[in-house]
Amino acid sequence: MSLDTNPTIVDITTPAAVGSVLADLRSTFSGGRTAGIGWRKRQLQGIIDLLERNEDRLIAAMATDVGKPPFDGWLTDLLTTRDEAKFALDHLAGWMKPTSHPVPLVAMPSKAWTEPQAVGVVLIISPWNYPVQLLLSPLVGAVAAGNCALLKPSELAPATSALLAELVPQHLDPEAVRVVEGGVDVTTSLLELEFDHILFTGSTRVGKVVMAAAAKFLTPVTLELGGKSPTIVAADADLKVAAKRVAWAKYLNAGQTCIAPDYVLVERSVSDPFTTLLVEELGALRDKAPAASIVNGDHIARLEGLLGAHGGNELLTRNTNCTSRVMDPVIVSEPDLDSPIMQEEIFGPLLPVIAVDSIDDAIDFIQARPRPLALYLFSASRDTERRVLDGTIAGSVCVNHLVYQVAVPSLPFGGVGPSGIGSYHGKAGFDTFSHHKSVLRRSTKGDLSAMYPPYSGTIQKLMRKVSRWPKR
Ligand code: NAD
Repeated sequence: MSLDTNPTIVDITTPAAVGSVLADLRSTFSGGRTAGIGWRKRQLQGIIDLLERNEDRLIAAMATDVGKPPFDGWLTDLLTTRDEAKFALDHLAGWMKPTSHPVPLVAMPSKAWTEPQAVGVVLIISPWNYPVQLLLSPLVGAVAAGNCALLKPSELAPATSALLAELVPQHLDPEAVRVVEGGVDVTTSLLELEFDHILFTGSTRVGKVVMAAAAKFLTPVTLELGGKSPTIVAADADLKVAAKRVAWAKYLNAGQTCIAPDYVLVERSVSDPFTTLLVEELGALRDKAPAASIVNGDHIARLEGLLGAHGGNELLTRNTNCTSRVMDPVIVSEPDLDSPIMQEEIFGPLLPVIAVDSIDDAIDFIQARPRPLALYLFSASRDTERRVLDGTIAGSVCVNHLVYQVAVPSLPFGGVGPSGIGSYHGKAGFDTFSHHKSVLRRSTKGDLSAMYPPYSGTIQKLMRKVSRWPKR
């Protein structure tokens, strides 16, 4: 579609051109139409329609970009995003209600409340690995909160980016939600502008670029980043189920999932049987299930580099098809902890397995490293679960499975420390893109002159007495 026929598809590379898109969005926001519940509901329904009516095209675009198997594309990108939008649609009226707050005696008579208000025009920057979900799920929170939004899909998923640029204006208010396609140069131009909030999903490295740019305007940021998400396998775990689930989560999207298990810490007493089961399960997936491809040659080279210097034992044979960009999974047993595979986020189908003497050692191992986006535990014991929950800091935890925490729309999703700032999904998404404005309304009746200076001795005594109520 050309720019002439659809002004919402923007091919821009200059800061001035992006600036004019932002100015248009600001003008729409100032006009006030995004504030009402009707507009918000129509946008949420628009997201649902976009996903449901274009399922085949979206799945095909993701297959073109990252070789995503069709069912995986439906499950992880389309279904999750549709459920997110449906959840928001069902709960929006409640989320928009003001919250009443108690008033202390000194401020009586009065009424105090907070009310959520849209922040304005927000920028959403997404990565390539879940190119539909990670662009449209944040949009659910943004439009539910009544904002205008500028969306920047990833240039590394070009077919999906182009399709979303075509579909978004067909299903959502084209004067309030705009898609800007392009690479790093375009993102750089966008970051030179003043938005009211930026939600960025991507690497920790680029997250720092985004935050530094936002700091110039004191623009609030939500950073959904990556990192090394550990999996602990306790000696009392159901090893067969644990191996099956870890293998599934690692195989999903060829390990290119921000919350994929990055490495496994397994209690030494069960390390051998667990590793044998893991080899069987991952080998079976490799042989029987369709695999997603690695996004590009640079990432294949990066992953092969990680295999080049780990100092451990490789279980499962290395095999990369450079044409299809499919890389078979490899388990690396007992890698050198200083090697790149244990220092960098893997983001691919390589899985280090390390034996630890105890759960406490696993906790110490995790706590000595940057705070992860997700943490997984397989154990039959609630005591072990409690010890791990209390002893570690991570963005989210899933016990006895992996990745599924992201499919619960009411659970906030986000990292902590270097794995991210802020969260979204469900009400957390609505809150992220809202300002909860505090309001106090006082009556003008009964305006006592004694309450203004100079305060009499009697009123001072009275105020001090009243300030002690209620007595504790
Ligand atoms: P990336 O950081 O390279 O790119 C993300 C976005 O930033 C893209 O739109 C890209 O155009 C833009 N970008 C890239 N370099 C830039 C620069 N120098 N200046 C400005 N913008 C720039 O990430 P990616 O490779 O697309 O995705 C992989 C990373 O994303 C992994 O680290 C993964 O863990 C993380 N991730 C996190 C989540 C989450 O929800 N927390 C989800 C998916 C992926």
